[in-house]
Amino acid sequence: MAKTKAITKAKTKAKPKSKAGSKAKPKSAPRKKPVAAAAAGRGTDPARVRKILAGLDKSYPAATCALHHDNAFQLLVATILSAQCTDERVNKVTPDLFRKYPTPKDFAYADPSELEQDIRSTGFYRNKAKSLLGSSKRIVEEFGGEVPRSMDEMLTLPGVARKTANVVLGTAYGIASGVVVDTHVQRIAQRLDLSKNMDPKKIEQDLMAAVPKDRWILFSHQVILHGRRVCQARRPKCTECVLEKVCYSKDKTYSSS
Ligand code: SF4
Repeated sequence: MAKTKAITKAKTKAKPKSKAGSKAKPKSAPRKKPVAAAAAGRGTDPARVRKILAGLDKSYPAATCALHHDNAFQLLVATILSAQCTDERVNKVTPDLFRKYPTPKDFAYADPSELEQDIRSTGFYRNKAKSLLGSSKRIVEEFGGEVPRSMDEMLTLPGVARKTANVVLGTAYGIASGVVVDTHVQRIAQRLDLSKNMDPKKIEQDLMAAVPKDRWILFSHQVILHGRRVCQARRPKCTECVLEKVCYSKDKTYSSS
């Protein structure tokens, strides 16, 4: 009780009394919190990000998309098929598929149940067939048979969200429209403290703010490879990780310091 009183007294004492006739000082505007910096945290310090990029370059200098394709449309098809499926499985299905349906028009007006059977082994084949038919039709009827080159246009294709659009625009056209956020990128962005968000759209925004734009395409491929080979979900291979020294994730299985 005595302590509380003393504190109250001290606070009261510290307040300057306004004198009659003296001009009242204008209230200073409340300090704004540096929102972006607070949300980003120390993980996105530019010097640290540079070390991460250098490490990724060392391990995966020529990382690229693992889905086999000869053009943007084939990559779009393969990326749609890769949802909830391994790239290896997709690469087994696409050679026959592209022989049978060589152009966007062939996909657009394919028999739905036949197409479903052709892609059945990739899983979720009914939804995937719908996306393939819908997006191919739109490409033929609205975009002159060419996969569009902007994120806004890509997002008008049925079954295409930012992840697929980023893969296609980045890999097929070299257009840096964002960062691909799949399950590996999502996990590693958090482990490397590059994002504290769980929502893929917000994670992508965080990564776009932290990583220079001219690195978005390669960075996406590198992180996906890192997730497949080293920073795996269940038991990351931290002893083999080139980023171990800059990583302070609670999921680490080894620490050199
Ligand atoms: S040190 Fe371990 S947890 Fe951190 S990025 Fe490397 S593999 Fe992943």
